[in-house]
Amino acid sequence: MNTSPDHLLGVAERAVLEACAVCRAVQTRDPRLGGQSAIAITKGDRSPVTIADFAAQAVIAHRLRQALGDVTLLGEEGSGYLRDPTHAAEKTAALAAVRLVWPEASEADMLDALDLGAGEFHRTPGRAGAFWTLDPIDGTKGFLRGEQYAVCLAHIEVPESGIGAPTIAAMGCPNLPASFTAQFHTPDPVGLVYLAGKGRGASVLPADGSAPASPLRRAPRTPGAPILGCRSVDASHSDHSTASRAMRRLHAHPAPLELDSQCKYAVVARGQADVYLRIPGKKPYVERIWDHASGALIASEAGCSVTDIEGKPLDFAHGRGLDANSGIVCCEPSLLRDILGAIAAEL
Ligand code: AMP
Ligand code: MG
Repeated sequence: MNTSPDHLLGVAERAVLEACAVCRAVQTRDPRLGGQSAIAITKGDRSPVTIADFAAQAVIAHRLRQALGDVTLLGEEGSGYLRDPTHAAEKTAALAAVRLVWPEASEADMLDALDLGAGEFHRTPGRAGAFWTLDPIDGTKGFLRGEQYAVCLAHIEVPESGIGAPTIAAMGCPNLPASFTAQFHTPDPVGLVYLAGKGRGASVLPADGSAPASPLRRAPRTPGAPILGCRSVDASHSDHSTASRAMRRLHAHPAPLELDSQCKYAVVARGQADVYLRIPGKKPYVERIWDHASGALIASEAGCSVTDIEGKPLDFAHGRGLDANSGIVCCEPSLLRDILGAIAAEL
């Protein structure tokens, strides 16, 4: 089996491009899907999910297994919801979406592919390991509003000791405009896919695959210009008030950009904003690895600093959660020290 970084990145890129096509078809109610309209589902834990989350995860899991054989995948979704006989209509709708890019898929194939994402990873003392992680639709609330969301796939390597880190990332942003002046709440007709390999740089291509990837490198900021932040739309995902106070200490722009999903990492990586902050609120919350793995690698390979709010590197060696970290800072490297200091002063 070819596990070279180039091969892994190519597999990830093709799988994410297909999943982007599936997500766009569901969101735009593509007539090929037979007019199905109920795309929103609320899971038992009250978090939103859609037909497109299941379809995108099934497609990506299938393509990884087809190209790479027996892989471990930690995905956000599973097959449980669709296997419930009372959710037969949703299962049919998800299969129709899957078949747009995987025409020969049967119901059993789709459910089986979804089960691949229920993988587990535990560090084995004295042995290195590797696995994939996937958020088929990060920012489902943005997807449901017709705004920003991201299809986020990353390959993670965990050494015998030390931190685990993403080594390959593919992040589809089907609604993200290339122009910095376009509004985030207006979906772009094409969107973008960001790619990165550890130590190999980042790149970007159109989300319809119509052109090859071109290199992405964050240009240094103009010294003295006000710092522009970006943050979650959902105020329960980050402590906006502490972040605002910290940014005020640095004389930052008073109105940060707001958008859902890991598209925020891309917005910093491409120099549209200078910092993305995620500060834990009062309610304890452990960040999920699939909410950060691909965005963090893309941003750091484009020349950004990515740490937690204490300045520690993100450690992806603890299974599904970033258990050893607290919050996220992704920024232009020259700002990191001041940003960490300002957060510490405001906490
Ligand atoms: P964003 O659009 O950046 O706010 O990120 C969306 C992601 O936030 C979802 O995929 C959830 O996994 C995650 N999330 C859910 N609840 C919380 C929380 N309380 N704090 C931080 N992130 C959360
Ligand atoms: Mg997510």
